[in-house]
Amino acid sequence: MKRVLLLGAGHAQLSVLADVMRQRLPGGEVLLVTPQAQLLYSGMVPGLIAGRYALDHCTIDVGALARAASVPLRLGRAVALDAQAREVALADGERIGYDLLCLNTGPVQDRDRIPGAREHALFVRPIETFVELWQRARTLADERPVALVVIGNGAAGVELVLAARAGLGARHSLALVCDGDLLQGHPPTARARAQAALRRAKVQLLPGRCTAIEARHVVVGSMRVVCDLPVVATGSDAPAWLAGSGLALDDAGYVRVGATLQSASHANVLAAGDLIARDDAAHPRSGVYAVRAGPVLAANLRALVGGGTLVPYRPQRRSLNLLSLGDGRALASWGGWSAQGWMMGWWKDAIDRGFVRRWRDQPSKK
Ligand SMILES: Cc1cc2nc3c(=O)[nH]c(=O)nc-3n(C[C@H](O)[C@H](O)[C@H](O)COP(=O)(O)OP(=O)(O)OC[C@H]3O[C@@H](n4cnc5c(N)ncnc54)[C@H](O)[C@@H]3O)c2cc1C
Repeated sequence: MKRVLLLGAGHAQLSVLADVMRQRLPGGEVLLVTPQAQLLYSGMVPGLIAGRYALDHCTIDVGALARAASVPLRLGRAVALDAQAREVALADGERIGYDLLCLNTGPVQDRDRIPGAREHALFVRPIETFVELWQRARTLADERPVALVVIGNGAAGVELVLAARAGLGARHSLALVCDGDLLQGHPPTARARAQAALRRAKVQLLPGRCTAIEARHVVVGSMRVVCDLPVVATGSDAPAWLAGSGLALDDAGYVRVGATLQSASHANVLAAGDLIARDDAAHPRSGVYAVRAGPVLAANLRALVGGGTLVPYRPQRRSLNLLSLGDGRALASWGGWSAQGWMMGWWKDAIDRGFVRRWRDQPSKK
Protein backbone atom coordinates (compact mmCIF):
# COMPACT_ATOMS: atom_id res chain seq x y z
CA MET A 1 0.00 0.00 0.00
CA LYS A 2 1.23 3.50 -0.82
CA ARG A 3 0.76 6.08 1.93
CA VAL A 4 -0.97 9.07 0.32
CA LEU A 5 -0.92 12.30 2.30
CA LEU A 6 -3.38 15.01 1.29
CA LEU A 7 -1.93 18.13 2.94
CA GLY A 8 -4.28 21.13 3.14
CA ALA A 9 -7.96 21.10 2.23
CA GLY A 10 -7.64 23.79 -0.41
CA HIS A 11 -9.85 24.38 -3.43
CA ALA A 12 -8.15 21.72 -5.57
CA GLN A 13 -8.01 19.09 -2.83
CA LEU A 14 -11.81 19.09 -2.67
CA SER A 15 -11.80 17.44 -6.10
CA VAL A 16 -9.38 14.79 -4.83
CA LEU A 17 -11.71 13.98 -1.93
CA ALA A 18 -14.73 13.82 -4.25
CA ASP A 19 -12.81 11.57 -6.63
CA VAL A 20 -11.83 9.17 -3.83
CA MET A 21 -15.43 9.26 -2.60
CA ARG A 22 -16.71 8.20 -6.03
CA GLN A 23 -14.14 5.47 -6.48
CA ARG A 24 -11.72 4.11 -3.87
CA LEU A 25 -8.02 4.49 -4.57
CA PRO A 26 -6.84 0.89 -4.92
CA GLY A 27 -3.33 0.52 -3.53
CA GLY A 28 -3.52 3.80 -1.65
CA GLU A 29 -3.93 4.47 2.08
CA VAL A 30 -5.12 8.06 2.18
CA LEU A 31 -4.88 10.57 5.04
CA LEU A 32 -6.03 14.21 5.00
CA VAL A 33 -4.21 16.71 7.23
CA THR A 34 -5.60 20.22 7.49
CA PRO A 35 -6.15 22.64 10.40
CA GLN A 36 -9.96 22.88 10.29
CA ALA A 37 -12.77 20.53 9.39
CA GLN A 38 -14.73 23.51 8.04
CA LEU A 39 -13.37 25.41 5.05
CA LEU A 40 -14.44 29.02 4.73
CA TYR A 41 -14.91 29.98 1.10
CA SER A 42 -12.95 33.22 0.57
CA GLY A 43 -15.07 34.37 -2.38
CA MET A 44 -18.02 34.86 -0.01
CA VAL A 45 -16.12 36.47 2.86
CA PRO A 46 -16.67 40.05 1.62
CA GLY A 47 -20.42 39.23 1.51
CA LEU A 48 -20.16 37.89 5.07
CA ILE A 49 -18.47 41.11 6.24
CA ALA A 50 -21.14 43.13 4.41
CA GLY A 51 -23.83 41.22 6.33
CA ARG A 52 -25.26 39.58 3.22
CA TYR A 53 -24.36 36.03 4.27
CA ALA A 54 -24.29 34.11 7.52
CA LEU A 55 -21.19 32.10 8.37
CA ASP A 56 -22.99 28.90 7.45
CA HIS A 57 -23.60 30.12 3.87
CA CYS A 58 -19.83 30.37 3.27
CA THR A 59 -18.70 27.13 4.90
CA ILE A 60 -17.79 23.83 3.26
CA ASP A 61 -17.78 20.81 5.56
CA VAL A 62 -14.49 19.17 4.62
CA GLY A 63 -14.96 16.72 7.51
CA ALA A 64 -18.19 15.41 5.93
CA LEU A 65 -16.50 15.12 2.55
CA ALA A 66 -13.57 13.19 4.07
CA ARG A 67 -15.96 10.88 5.94
CA ALA A 68 -17.91 10.20 2.76
CA ALA A 69 -14.63 9.37 1.00
CA SER A 70 -13.59 7.15 3.96
CA VAL A 71 -10.46 9.28 4.29
CA PRO A 72 -9.33 9.80 7.90
CA LEU A 73 -9.02 13.48 8.81
CA ARG A 74 -6.18 14.54 11.09
CA LEU A 75 -6.56 18.15 12.23
CA GLY A 76 -3.11 19.74 12.16
CA ARG A 77 -0.88 22.32 10.57
CA ALA A 78 2.33 21.42 8.76
CA VAL A 79 5.37 23.35 9.99
CA ALA A 80 8.11 21.49 8.10
CA LEU A 81 8.52 19.14 5.17
CA ASP A 82 11.45 16.89 4.34
CA ALA A 83 10.96 15.81 0.74
CA GLN A 84 14.01 13.53 0.86
CA ALA A 85 12.85 11.65 3.97
CA ARG A 86 9.22 11.89 2.74
CA GLU A 87 7.99 13.27 6.02
CA VAL A 88 5.86 16.17 7.20
CA ALA A 89 6.16 17.66 10.70
CA LEU A 90 3.04 19.10 12.31
CA ALA A 91 2.83 21.99 14.77
CA ASP A 92 1.97 19.59 17.60
CA GLY A 93 5.21 17.65 17.05
CA GLU A 94 3.84 14.62 15.20
CA ARG A 95 5.71 13.52 12.08
CA ILE A 96 3.78 11.88 9.27
CA GLY A 97 5.50 9.82 6.58
CA TYR A 98 4.20 9.46 3.04
CA ASP A 99 4.95 7.82 -0.27
CA LEU A 100 2.88 10.32 -2.27
CA LEU A 101 2.18 13.87 -1.18
CA CYS A 102 -0.64 16.00 -2.55
CA LEU A 103 0.00 19.57 -1.46
CA ASN A 104 -2.71 22.26 -1.42
CA THR A 105 -2.09 24.37 1.68
CA GLY A 106 -2.60 27.76 0.05
CA PRO A 107 -0.65 30.96 0.59
CA VAL A 108 0.19 32.85 3.78
CA GLN A 109 0.89 36.48 4.65
CA ASP A 110 4.25 37.67 5.92
CA ARG A 111 3.31 39.13 9.31
CA ASP A 112 6.57 41.03 9.71
CA ARG A 113 6.74 42.89 6.40
CA ILE A 114 5.06 45.96 7.93
CA PRO A 115 6.58 46.75 11.34
CA GLY A 116 3.92 46.61 14.04
CA ALA A 117 1.41 44.70 11.91
CA ARG A 118 1.86 41.44 13.82
CA GLU A 119 0.93 43.20 17.09
CA HIS A 120 -1.82 45.54 15.94
CA ALA A 121 -3.40 44.47 12.65
CA LEU A 122 -5.86 41.91 11.36
CA PHE A 123 -4.52 39.82 8.48
CA VAL A 124 -6.89 38.44 5.85
CA ARG A 125 -5.12 35.04 6.01
CA PRO A 126 -5.78 32.53 7.41
CA ILE A 127 -9.27 33.52 6.36
CA GLU A 128 -10.93 31.61 9.24
CA THR A 129 -8.88 33.55 11.82
CA PHE A 130 -9.63 36.81 10.04
CA VAL A 131 -13.38 36.21 10.17
CA GLU A 132 -13.25 35.21 13.83
CA LEU A 133 -11.25 38.33 14.79
CA TRP A 134 -13.42 40.55 12.59
CA GLN A 135 -16.52 39.39 14.41
CA ARG A 136 -14.87 40.36 17.69
CA ALA A 137 -13.58 43.68 16.35
CA ARG A 138 -16.96 44.70 15.06
CA THR A 139 -18.41 44.74 18.57
CA LEU A 140 -16.17 47.79 19.05
CA ALA A 141 -17.75 49.35 15.97
CA ASP A 142 -21.21 48.67 17.43
CA GLU A 143 -20.26 50.75 20.48
CA ARG A 144 -18.68 53.82 18.85
CA PRO A 145 -17.51 55.21 15.49
CA VAL A 146 -14.21 53.63 14.49
CA ALA A 147 -11.48 54.41 11.97
CA LEU A 148 -10.81 51.39 9.75
CA VAL A 149 -7.85 51.33 7.38
CA VAL A 150 -7.50 48.52 4.85
CA ILE A 151 -3.97 48.17 3.49
CA GLY A 152 -3.92 46.71 -0.02
CA ASN A 153 -5.04 47.99 -3.41
CA GLY A 154 -5.83 44.59 -4.96
CA ALA A 155 -9.18 42.84 -5.33
CA ALA A 156 -9.34 41.63 -1.71
CA GLY A 157 -8.59 45.11 -0.29
CA VAL A 158 -11.21 46.81 -2.47
CA GLU A 159 -13.87 44.18 -1.74
CA LEU A 160 -13.21 44.20 2.00
CA VAL A 161 -13.31 47.97 2.47
CA LEU A 162 -16.57 48.20 0.48
CA ALA A 163 -17.96 45.26 2.44
CA ALA A 164 -16.99 46.97 5.68
CA ARG A 165 -18.90 50.09 4.63
CA ALA A 166 -22.00 48.01 3.94
CA GLY A 167 -21.65 45.97 7.12
CA LEU A 168 -20.63 48.67 9.58
CA GLY A 169 -22.67 51.63 8.30
CA ALA A 170 -22.02 55.25 7.45
CA ARG A 171 -20.83 56.66 10.79
CA HIS A 172 -17.37 55.06 10.61
CA SER A 173 -14.32 56.46 8.85
CA LEU A 174 -12.94 54.08 6.19
CA ALA A 175 -9.73 54.34 4.19
CA LEU A 176 -7.80 52.22 1.68
CA VAL A 177 -4.02 52.40 1.41
CA CYS A 178 -2.94 52.19 -2.24
CA ASP A 179 0.71 51.53 -2.87
CA GLY A 180 0.47 52.06 -6.64
CA ASP A 181 -2.54 51.84 -8.91
CA LEU A 182 -5.83 50.43 -7.73
CA LEU A 183 -6.58 46.89 -9.01
CA GLN A 184 -3.40 46.44 -11.01
CA GLY A 185 -3.84 43.87 -13.77
CA HIS A 186 -7.53 44.73 -14.21
CA PRO A 187 -8.69 46.69 -17.28
CA PRO A 188 -8.73 50.51 -17.02
CA THR A 189 -12.54 50.61 -17.19
CA ALA A 190 -12.81 48.25 -14.20
CA ARG A 191 -10.31 50.32 -12.25
CA ALA A 192 -12.29 53.49 -12.95
CA ARG A 193 -15.52 51.78 -11.85
CA ALA A 194 -13.88 50.58 -8.62
CA GLN A 195 -12.58 54.08 -7.95
CA ALA A 196 -16.10 55.48 -8.41
CA ALA A 197 -17.56 52.81 -6.10
CA LEU A 198 -15.03 53.72 -3.40
CA ARG A 199 -15.88 57.39 -3.81
CA ARG A 200 -19.61 56.66 -3.49
CA ALA A 201 -18.94 54.61 -0.37
CA LYS A 202 -16.92 57.51 1.08
CA VAL A 203 -13.75 55.48 1.36
CA GLN A 204 -10.72 57.73 1.53
CA LEU A 205 -7.83 56.65 -0.71
CA LEU A 206 -4.43 56.97 0.95
CA PRO A 207 -1.71 56.82 -1.74
CA GLY A 208 1.66 55.46 -0.65
CA ARG A 209 3.26 52.54 1.12
CA CYS A 210 2.27 51.62 4.65
CA THR A 211 5.58 51.49 6.54
CA ALA A 212 4.40 50.99 10.11
CA ILE A 213 1.34 50.12 12.14
CA GLU A 214 1.06 51.46 15.68
CA ALA A 215 -1.51 51.03 18.42
CA ARG A 216 -3.75 53.88 17.17
CA HIS A 217 -2.17 54.90 13.85
CA VAL A 218 -0.92 53.64 10.53
CA VAL A 219 2.02 55.33 8.82
CA VAL A 220 1.59 55.84 5.08
CA GLY A 221 4.43 57.69 3.36
CA SER A 222 4.85 60.86 5.43
CA MET A 223 1.30 60.65 6.89
CA ARG A 224 0.37 59.29 10.31
CA VAL A 225 -3.29 58.36 10.03
CA VAL A 226 -5.57 57.62 12.99
CA CYS A 227 -6.68 54.02 12.89
CA ASP A 228 -8.53 51.77 15.36
CA LEU A 229 -8.72 48.79 13.07
CA PRO A 230 -5.95 48.12 10.53
CA VAL A 231 -6.59 45.25 8.08
CA VAL A 232 -3.67 43.93 6.03
CA ALA A 233 -4.79 42.70 2.59
CA THR A 234 -1.53 43.15 0.73
CA GLY A 235 -1.49 39.92 -1.24
CA SER A 236 0.03 36.64 -0.25
CA ASP A 237 3.34 34.90 0.22
CA ALA A 238 4.70 31.37 0.04
CA PRO A 239 4.83 29.57 3.39
CA ALA A 240 8.23 29.85 5.08
CA TRP A 241 8.07 26.18 6.17
CA LEU A 242 8.67 25.07 2.57
CA ALA A 243 12.07 26.80 2.49
CA GLY A 244 14.05 23.92 3.94
CA SER A 245 11.95 21.16 2.38
CA GLY A 246 14.29 20.23 -0.47
CA LEU A 247 11.44 20.77 -2.97
CA ALA A 248 12.35 22.90 -5.98
CA LEU A 249 11.04 26.40 -5.25
CA ASP A 250 11.05 29.58 -7.31
CA ASP A 251 12.76 32.77 -6.11
CA ALA A 252 9.71 33.78 -4.07
CA GLY A 253 9.49 30.35 -2.37
CA TYR A 254 6.57 28.86 -4.32
CA VAL A 255 6.61 25.17 -5.29
CA ARG A 256 7.81 24.74 -8.87
CA VAL A 257 5.63 22.31 -10.79
CA GLY A 258 5.31 21.22 -14.39
CA ALA A 259 2.22 20.72 -16.52
CA THR A 260 1.16 17.56 -14.62
CA LEU A 261 1.36 19.46 -11.29
CA GLN A 262 4.27 17.26 -10.24
CA SER A 263 7.04 18.97 -8.30
CA ALA A 264 9.95 19.94 -10.55
CA SER A 265 12.27 18.08 -8.17
CA HIS A 266 10.20 15.26 -6.63
CA ALA A 267 7.94 13.17 -8.85
CA ASN A 268 6.07 11.80 -5.81
CA VAL A 269 4.81 15.28 -4.89
CA LEU A 270 1.82 16.90 -6.57
CA ALA A 271 0.87 20.48 -5.75
CA ALA A 272 -1.89 22.87 -6.74
CA GLY A 273 -3.45 26.20 -5.89
CA ASP A 274 -1.84 29.47 -4.86
CA LEU A 275 1.18 27.58 -3.53
CA ILE A 276 2.59 26.71 -6.94
CA ALA A 277 4.66 28.39 -9.63
CA ARG A 278 4.23 26.75 -13.02
CA ASP A 279 7.52 26.37 -14.87
CA ASP A 280 5.83 26.26 -18.27
CA ALA A 281 2.64 28.31 -18.01
CA ALA A 282 2.62 31.02 -15.36
CA HIS A 283 -0.89 32.02 -14.32
CA PRO A 284 -2.37 34.37 -11.71
CA ARG A 285 -2.92 33.04 -8.21
CA SER A 286 -6.65 32.92 -7.59
CA GLY A 287 -9.34 30.54 -6.46
CA VAL A 288 -10.48 30.12 -10.06
CA TYR A 289 -7.18 28.50 -11.11
CA ALA A 290 -7.01 26.44 -7.92
CA VAL A 291 -10.51 25.05 -8.54
CA ARG A 292 -9.79 24.26 -12.20
CA ALA A 293 -6.63 22.37 -11.24
CA GLY A 294 -8.65 20.07 -8.96
CA PRO A 295 -9.79 17.39 -11.45
CA VAL A 296 -6.27 17.16 -12.93
CA LEU A 297 -4.79 16.85 -9.42
CA ALA A 298 -7.24 14.02 -8.67
CA ALA A 299 -6.58 12.21 -11.96
CA ASN A 300 -2.81 12.45 -11.59
CA LEU A 301 -2.84 11.27 -8.00
CA ARG A 302 -4.84 8.26 -9.14
CA ALA A 303 -2.30 7.65 -11.93
CA LEU A 304 0.61 7.87 -9.49
CA VAL A 305 -1.00 5.40 -7.10
CA GLY A 306 -2.27 2.89 -9.63
CA GLY A 307 0.08 3.44 -12.53
CA GLY A 308 -1.09 5.21 -15.65
CA THR A 309 -0.48 8.30 -17.69
CA LEU A 310 -0.50 11.69 -16.05
CA VAL A 311 -2.46 14.45 -17.77
CA PRO A 312 -1.49 18.12 -18.08
CA TYR A 313 -3.37 21.00 -16.46
CA ARG A 314 -3.82 23.69 -19.10
CA PRO A 315 -4.72 26.89 -17.31
CA GLN A 316 -7.09 29.19 -19.16
CA ARG A 317 -5.43 32.30 -20.59
CA ARG A 318 -7.69 34.68 -18.72
CA SER A 319 -10.42 34.37 -16.15
CA LEU A 320 -13.59 36.20 -15.25
CA ASN A 321 -13.10 38.49 -12.25
CA LEU A 322 -16.16 39.27 -10.17
CA LEU A 323 -15.69 41.73 -7.32
CA SER A 324 -18.49 42.39 -4.91
CA LEU A 325 -19.14 46.08 -4.28
CA GLY A 326 -20.63 45.49 -0.84
CA ASP A 327 -24.16 46.65 -1.55
CA GLY A 328 -25.26 43.64 -3.61
CA ARG A 329 -23.79 44.91 -6.84
CA ALA A 330 -20.63 43.49 -8.38
CA LEU A 331 -17.97 44.53 -10.85
CA ALA A 332 -17.17 42.02 -13.59
CA SER A 333 -14.14 42.08 -15.85
CA TRP A 334 -12.81 39.79 -18.54
CA GLY A 335 -9.77 40.78 -20.57
CA GLY A 336 -10.36 44.43 -21.48
CA TRP A 337 -14.13 44.29 -20.85
CA SER A 338 -15.91 45.32 -17.65
CA ALA A 339 -19.47 45.88 -16.40
CA GLN A 340 -21.08 46.47 -13.05
CA GLY A 341 -24.48 46.44 -11.41
CA TRP A 342 -27.12 44.33 -9.69
CA MET A 343 -27.09 41.72 -12.46
CA MET A 344 -23.36 41.17 -11.93
CA GLY A 345 -24.05 40.92 -8.20
CA TRP A 346 -26.72 38.31 -8.83
CA TRP A 347 -24.30 36.43 -11.09
CA LYS A 348 -21.51 36.41 -8.49
CA ASP A 349 -23.93 35.34 -5.77
CA ALA A 350 -25.21 32.47 -7.94
CA ILE A 351 -21.66 31.29 -8.76
CA ASP A 352 -20.50 31.48 -5.14
CA ARG A 353 -23.55 29.81 -3.62
CA GLY A 354 -23.37 27.17 -6.36
CA PHE A 355 -19.73 26.45 -5.49
CA VAL A 356 -20.45 25.91 -1.81
CA ARG A 357 -23.59 23.87 -2.58
CA ARG A 358 -21.66 21.65 -4.98
CA TRP A 359 -19.26 20.55 -2.22
CA ARG A 360 -21.98 20.30 0.38
CA ASP A 361 -23.99 18.00 -1.83
CA GLN A 362 -21.08 15.68 -2.63
CA PRO A 363 -21.44 13.38 0.41
CA SER A 364 -25.08 12.67 -0.49
CA LYS A 365 -24.00 11.62 -4.02
CA LYS A 366 -22.01 8.72 -2.63
C1 LIG B 1 -11.06 38.28 0.97
C2 LIG B 1 -10.67 37.42 -0.20
C3 LIG B 1 -11.58 37.21 -1.24
C4 LIG B 1 -11.23 36.43 -2.33
N1 LIG B 1 -12.14 36.25 -3.33
C5 LIG B 1 -11.81 35.51 -4.41
C6 LIG B 1 -12.75 35.31 -5.46
O1 LIG B 1 -13.89 35.81 -5.43
N2 LIG B 1 -12.37 34.54 -6.53
C7 LIG B 1 -11.11 33.97 -6.60
O2 LIG B 1 -10.82 33.28 -7.58
N3 LIG B 1 -10.22 34.14 -5.62
C8 LIG B 1 -10.52 34.88 -4.52
N4 LIG B 1 -9.61 35.06 -3.51
C9 LIG B 1 -8.31 34.38 -3.62
C10 LIG B 1 -8.47 32.95 -3.12
O3 LIG B 1 -8.83 32.97 -1.76
C11 LIG B 1 -7.20 32.15 -3.25
O4 LIG B 1 -6.69 32.29 -4.54
C12 LIG B 1 -7.51 30.68 -2.97
O5 LIG B 1 -7.95 30.54 -1.65
C13 LIG B 1 -6.30 29.80 -3.18
O6 LIG B 1 -6.75 28.49 -3.02
P1 LIG B 1 -5.82 27.36 -2.46
O7 LIG B 1 -6.56 26.11 -2.68
O8 LIG B 1 -4.46 27.47 -3.02
O9 LIG B 1 -5.65 27.66 -0.90
P2 LIG B 1 -6.70 27.89 0.25
O10 LIG B 1 -8.06 28.13 -0.26
O11 LIG B 1 -6.07 28.93 1.12
O12 LIG B 1 -6.73 26.49 1.02
C14 LIG B 1 -5.62 26.06 1.75
C15 LIG B 1 -6.05 24.99 2.73
O13 LIG B 1 -4.89 24.48 3.38
C16 LIG B 1 -5.01 24.60 4.79
N5 LIG B 1 -3.68 24.89 5.31
C17 LIG B 1 -3.08 26.10 5.35
N6 LIG B 1 -1.85 25.98 5.90
C18 LIG B 1 -1.69 24.67 6.20
C19 LIG B 1 -0.63 23.94 6.79
N7 LIG B 1 0.51 24.53 7.17
N8 LIG B 1 -0.79 22.61 6.98
C20 LIG B 1 -1.94 21.99 6.58
N9 LIG B 1 -2.96 22.64 6.01
C21 LIG B 1 -2.85 23.97 5.83
C22 LIG B 1 -6.00 25.73 5.00
O14 LIG B 1 -6.62 25.65 6.26
C23 LIG B 1 -6.97 25.50 3.84
O15 LIG B 1 -7.87 24.48 4.17
C24 LIG B 1 -9.93 35.84 -2.40
C25 LIG B 1 -9.02 36.04 -1.35
C26 LIG B 1 -9.39 36.81 -0.27
C27 LIG B 1 -8.37 37.01 0.86
